[in-house]
Amino acid sequence: MQIVSSIAAMQRHAKKWQRAGTRIGFVPTMGYLHAGHLSLVKRARQSVGKTGKVVVSIYVNPTQFAPTEDLAQYPRDLKRDLKLCREAGADAVFTPGDAEMYPNKAENGFSAYVVEEKLSQSMEGAARPVHFRGVTTVVAKLFNIVLPDVAVFGQKDFQQAAVIKRMVADLNFPVKIIVAPTLREPDGLAMSSRNKYLEGDLRLQATVLWHAIQKAQAVVKKSARPVPAEKLKAELKEFIQHKPAARADYVEFFDPDNLSPVAKVTRGSQLALAVFVGKTRLIDNAQL
Ligand code: AMP
Repeated sequence: MQIVSSIAAMQRHAKKWQRAGTRIGFVPTMGYLHAGHLSLVKRARQSVGKTGKVVVSIYVNPTQFAPTEDLAQYPRDLKRDLKLCREAGADAVFTPGDAEMYPNKAENGFSAYVVEEKLSQSMEGAARPVHFRGVTTVVAKLFNIVLPDVAVFGQKDFQQAAVIKRMVADLNFPVKIIVAPTLREPDGLAMSSRNKYLEGDLRLQATVLWHAIQKAQAVVKKSARPVPAEKLKAELKEFIQHKPAARADYVEFFDPDNLSPVAKVTRGSQLALAVFVGKTRLIDNAQL
C-alpha cells in the first residue's frame, strides 16, 4: 500500500493509472477509521475490481469546521488508520497536511471555493454555516488530485451525499458517486469517529437517535393516514429531551430526492436528526 502525502505525487500515480486504463475508486475520510469507513473501502473495491486501484484519503479538513467547533479535538490516529486501510485492501492512502492542501493560507488567502446553493441550505447547512462550502471545496480538490472514476460516500451523512451528487452533476466531474448504507453498533448507534467523545453514561444516552428513528418508523407503519410532520417532530424532540444529557438540534422530515421538507410524513419520507449528547453533536437519518 502506498502512503502519499504530496499532491503532485498523488496526481502522478493517478495519471499513470489512468493512462494504463486502470479504474480508480476513492473513499474520502477524516480518519479515525471505523467499520463504517472500511465498508466504503470494500464497496469501492467491488466497483473497480481486483485490477482497479482503491485510494483512501485521510484529511481533517479545517475549512468545514467553524471556529467554535471541534477541529482541534477531532480524534486522530494515523498509524492505526494505515493498518486498517492495509488490512481492508486499499492500494494507496492520501494523507496530506494543511500546508499541502491550503498553502499560504495566512499570507495569500485562499479564495476559490465551490459552493452548492440549494441542497446545502437546510439542516447541517443551517446549523453549521461554513460546513458545506468546506466539504464541496475539499472534495472538488480531492477529485482533482485522486482523479477517481468512482467515489463512495456514506448514507450516514445523507445531506452531504446529496450535495456532492449535485456538485458532480452540475460541474460535470467525471466521477460516479456511490452512496453506501450506514453501519451501526449492536445497540443501533451509527458508527462515527465522534463516538470516541462519548464517555460512560453519555454513550448509553447516545442510542436515543436510533430509538427516535425507530419510534418514527413505528408511528408511520401503524398510521393509516399521513402523519403531520410538525406533530411528529414535537413528539420526537420531547422523546429525545427525556435523556438528561440529550438536546435535539433539529429533527426534519423531507423528500429524499430533493431534500424539500414535507408537511405530511408517509412511507418513503426521510428523517434526519442532529442531537447534542453532552457536548458531542451526533447526526443520523433513515428513510421511513
Ligand atoms: P468522515 O470520516 O466522518 O468524514 O466520514 C467519511 C465517509 O465515511 C463519509 O462518506 C461518511 O458518510 C462515511 N461514514 C461515516 N460513518 C459511517 C457509517 N457509520 N457507516 C457508513 N459510512 C459512514
